[in-house]
Amino acid sequence: MAGCGATYESRYWGRDLKVVCVEKANIERSGAVAQGLYAINCYMGMQWDENQPEDHVRYARNDLMGLVREDLGYDIARHVDATVHKFEEWGLPIMKDPETGRYQREGKWQIMIHGESYKPIVAEAARKAATEVYNRIMVTHLLMDESKPNRVGGAVGFNVRTGDFYVFRAKAVIVCAGGASHIYKPRSVGEGMGRTWYAPWSSASAYALPILAGAKMTQMENRIVLTRFKDGYGPVGAYFLHLKTYTENAYGEEYESKWYDHTKELVGDYVDRHPVPTCLRNHAFLEEMKAGRGPIRMVTKEAFQDPHKETVGWENFLGMTIGQAVVWASQNIDPKHVNPELTTSEPYVMGSHATCSGAWASGPSDYAPAEYQWGYNRMMTVEGLFGAGDTIGGTAHKFSSGSFCEGRIAAKAAVNYVNDLRNEKLQVSEKQYEDLKKTVFQPMENYQVGRNEIVAGTVSPSYLLPISGLQRLEKLMDEYVGGISAHYMTNEPLLTRGLELLCMLREDLNHLGAEDLHQLQRAWELHHRLLASESVTHHTMFRQETRWPGYYYRADHPKLDDEDWHCFTVSRYDRESGEWEMEKAPVYHIVD
Ligand SMILES: Cc1cc2nc3c(=O)[nH]c(=O)nc-3n(C[C@H](O)[C@H](O)[C@H](O)COP(=O)(O)OP(=O)(O)OC[C@H]3O[C@@H](n4cnc5c(N)ncnc54)[C@H](O)[C@@H]3O)c2cc1C
Repeated sequence: MAGCGATYESRYWGRDLKVVCVEKANIERSGAVAQGLYAINCYMGMQWDENQPEDHVRYARNDLMGLVREDLGYDIARHVDATVHKFEEWGLPIMKDPETGRYQREGKWQIMIHGESYKPIVAEAARKAATEVYNRIMVTHLLMDESKPNRVGGAVGFNVRTGDFYVFRAKAVIVCAGGASHIYKPRSVGEGMGRTWYAPWSSASAYALPILAGAKMTQMENRIVLTRFKDGYGPVGAYFLHLKTYTENAYGEEYESKWYDHTKELVGDYVDRHPVPTCLRNHAFLEEMKAGRGPIRMVTKEAFQDPHKETVGWENFLGMTIGQAVVWASQNIDPKHVNPELTTSEPYVMGSHATCSGAWASGPSDYAPAEYQWGYNRMMTVEGLFGAGDTIGGTAHKFSSGSFCEGRIAAKAAVNYVNDLRNEKLQVSEKQYEDLKKTVFQPMENYQVGRNEIVAGTVSPSYLLPISGLQRLEKLMDEYVGGISAHYMTNEPLLTRGLELLCMLREDLNHLGAEDLHQLQRAWELHHRLLASESVTHHTMFRQETRWPGYYYRADHPKLDDEDWHCFTVSRYDRESGEWEMEKAPVYHIVD
């Protein structure tokens, strides 16, 4: 989404520039919106005075327990409506309220769409704008300018079908590579392994690429856990907001209010905010489960008696999460007669949903406090390196429309940056990318050499298969950094040991073996996931409080601590030494 927005807008401002869009799948059906969506979750409705950008900042700030980059959030909110209007112009069917003629609201911020073809519609705009779209190229590394320290010089990657190596020299790079699933062990393993809530192909490149280039990251500990329908991860938004369904425990009791006093003790007044922050609703769910009164169910039996609501309930999945409809069908669950089970997901790392992990970016010149401005809007702490969507940290609740919109914002700034460089030449030597080429294909070499040592099976003394490395990473993050099997709980000793094991895994990744190009892609996805995991672990260790109970818990610092931790956490990785540096950055409240 963000990449398509960036491509579209780059052409608008940079008529004579070479604009290329590089994608590891095919932009027609790639990313988190690949299957389509049933709602656009970020739309102000300013034309009807439904909401103002300041309202959205307050909403996101409240949901993230006080900590968002208000300058960045405001910047998206003030522009996002225009982006949604473009989608409609390009052919996206948006549902209308028959009485008012306005877009049909699902909730205060969400509008309902017939969105199975959302992604192809958006991709078409990017395709028409780009000088060239390079599909099936996985970007593995960014190039650096050798004439100036800390300046990006392009990117390299390989074609996952042909194995050709690609070098993109570029004055500006906008990273829009989505979030990260499969960092933590998922609930569905074995034959169900690909079934995750966030797209299984979201492999943390959005974080690893900038991290390796030396860009600062923020709020990487703020990983998200989602309450979803069990086994299919079907979304619950339309059910709660539009169908007005509600949850109950195994004995048919309302349970959230039971945990009020307990939660208040942990987070103080945040529990009294409206709407109740997403993480706190998870918290009540988890506590009720731990008390042995699960499963928690969504009460659908009442709403589904209304044929219109029944249709909406099913269509909601058919347009975006078909898997949930299939799971219900295969498990004999008809929500008209059975209240379906809910569960909490494994954690994901992302920056566009009810969470805000990602790169530390410069803010808009007319709105950001001086401390948040060191260059062009959405430029990271590396010159010429921009980001949008899940890539950029501190800005929760942008969703699909906000991500596309942020891509546009970043692109406008990137074009200005390129124009300001004028005829200045970047220096990227052949040696730089030839060295990277060797590194990129090393796993295939490892396999070629090592496979002679085995006669059958897949266990080799001298190489590690990507799937084995991935499972080791997931287990480690699950057990030490607060995954599902630990009830999202961790502490300093666990994190310390987790980091030791992550370092050992990092060493072992030099021995990854890739049998073919598909496995080579898996190998680099694993590299990227590992780096993002290290970042998450360092951030989780640094923040000595439990800011978002329901997302994760520091058992050794179980309470929210506004006095010491009403701040952003910021990290920087030094690729020469392999060390991480952590610092705090202030949170400025710009909106009342
Ligand atoms: C199940 C689900 C339901 C959702 N529901 C809604 C909803 O109802 N409404 C709503 O508005 N939003 C919803 N969202 C959120 C929305 O999809 C995201 O906010 C948005 O897609 C993020 O945009 P992005 O560009 O950052 O990432 P994506 O759209 O995921 O794009 C990232 C792209 O980068 C590519 N890529 C990754 N790594 C590399 C690499 N190394 N080299 C080259 N290419 C790479 C990927 O293939 C992908 O195309 C939902 C998301 C999910 C997963």
